Amino acid sequence: MNETRQSIGSAPSSPDDLDVAVIGAGISGMYAVHRFRRAGLTVRAFDEAGDVGGTWWWNCYPGARVDSPGAPFYCYTFDRELVNEWEWAETQPDQPTILAYLRNFAEKYDIRRDVQFETRVENAEFDESTNEWVIELSTGERVRARFLVSAAGTLSAANLPNIPGIEDFAGPLHHTGRWPQDGCVDFTDKRVAVVGTGSSGVQVIPNIAKDASQLYVLQRTPQFVLPARNRPLDPALAERARDEWPDMRDRLVKTGRALPMATKSALDVSDEERRATYDAAWVQGGMAVRECYRDHMTNLEANEILAGYVRDKIVETIDAPTIAEKLLPTYIFGTKRLILGTDYYETYNRDNVRLLDIRSYPIDRFTPTSVQTGEGEFEIDLLILATGYDAISGALTRLDPVGRAGRHLTDNWAGGPRTYLGMAMTDFPNLFVVQGPQSPSVKYHYALGSELQVDWIAECILRMRAAGYETIEPEPETESAWGAKVADIANVTLYPRTDSWYSGANIPGKPRQFAVHLDGPGYHEELKNIAKGDYTGFRFDRAKSTRQEIA
Ligand code: NAP
Repeated sequence: MNETRQSIGSAPSSPDDLDVAVIGAGISGMYAVHRFRRAGLTVRAFDEAGDVGGTWWWNCYPGARVDSPGAPFYCYTFDRELVNEWEWAETQPDQPTILAYLRNFAEKYDIRRDVQFETRVENAEFDESTNEWVIELSTGERVRARFLVSAAGTLSAANLPNIPGIEDFAGPLHHTGRWPQDGCVDFTDKRVAVVGTGSSGVQVIPNIAKDASQLYVLQRTPQFVLPARNRPLDPALAERARDEWPDMRDRLVKTGRALPMATKSALDVSDEERRATYDAAWVQGGMAVRECYRDHMTNLEANEILAGYVRDKIVETIDAPTIAEKLLPTYIFGTKRLILGTDYYETYNRDNVRLLDIRSYPIDRFTPTSVQTGEGEFEIDLLILATGYDAISGALTRLDPVGRAGRHLTDNWAGGPRTYLGMAMTDFPNLFVVQGPQSPSVKYHYALGSELQVDWIAECILRMRAAGYETIEPEPETESAWGAKVADIANVTLYPRTDSWYSGANIPGKPRQFAVHLDGPGYHEELKNIAKGDYTGFRFDRAKSTRQEIA
């Protein structure tokens, strides 16, 4: 260990000080509260929402439901009792069901006792004189904690586009990720515009179309939407998951998947065999078609065969060839987050739905009562923004914590996120990020990934305590090496070749960096080894102990 830094952490903490302050009470934050408490640490989480659930609390728009991996695997994995207790009815549970599941978790583990709701963390600053984080809350309170753990989410910082005149629009305006909790957005006989056709838009559009008198869909990039085919969960699969949970969890850890992976290449089979395989997967629905062969996301030729198959399906579904033409995606299949839809393409066959291609005919402006595009002016009563998120890093950069010597995170990240393990940053001692940029985050089983990272953090804190250390921080050179490693893994795949929220390209001015570690199983193995190996790459400061004592 490098003990070059001076330790000043001698000022006593007040009795109210926390061991750990957690930002967020969604899937990761709730687990963090549970796990840190179990480790004997004092912990409190802060969340702007009115209750637990994080993104599942906010995203209560009509049609919101989980897509991948779906039930019975979209759940916490650490407690077999919890797995056994919960009955999933459908393969892709809807938002109220997921929220009920998360509320049940909160009840079972008495999470709310240590969560302060309707409380936004406004500022976070590391106090070098006490080696504590000082956080300022929207309530005006200040809280001190030895460790700050951000569980603020990967898809939580809403992207509100800066379109001329949008602030003048006089009717109701809702972002899908900030949907009103009272559930009373009424589309009946209304003229509605939806901007955005990502996962949120694809889910909300068919539901609005059922009630609205007129729906305008403002599409910038046509997407690949696969049929979700939500259906009752096969009781045999649910039972198998319960019976074999330890093995399934083990497989999840090692592969990131609940079910086995394909081993064949799409190029190693005859056209007939491939077609039959795709047809069967298409009927099965969900992400099955992508999973038929191992190389759809690494080999452009294999990818293009599948892309052609999906484009043909889109054309078959749409009555009017001119509309089908506008809905055909041209980017590399799957390199933007794949979307699952229910009656999505069918919706464009309805008389009350009009697709506006704002790539060819951009939005000029909104007025108090309309949207004006290159195709004309369209009177609207309601405006829905399904425009996504400042993803993965946005929640943290919007907080912009201040670390050593007054360093702002956004200064250190001016060229894109710099982290070690996607969890820790030089100049920001004792700040850990769960599901952060350069970790597997959205490309690994989300709850399991959170559990493994939080477990690692809890163990690290306990070992630091035992050894008398007050701060942990990555060595500066680890960040460049980690960033290069994450990029190398991504570059083996087709993902970085497309502009997407994975790389920040959806946010004007955001530095481009493919921010997901695409080898989740390898990542978690490495995390384990780093803890076993005396926390290689980290420096610890203070107290009376030596480096050897933590090992
Ligand atoms: P998204 O995938 O980023 O889609 C945003 C949409 O808004 C895109 O069509 C985008 O067009 C458009 N857009 C953004 N800014 C715009 C602007 N200034 N003018 C016009 N159009 C604009 O966001 P999302 O649909 O909210 O989904 C984000 C992620 O959340 C998903 O990929 C998924 O991981 C997750 N999600 C999951 C579920 C689920 O089922 N579990 C549901 C919803 C969301 P471009 O493509 O041209 O940028």
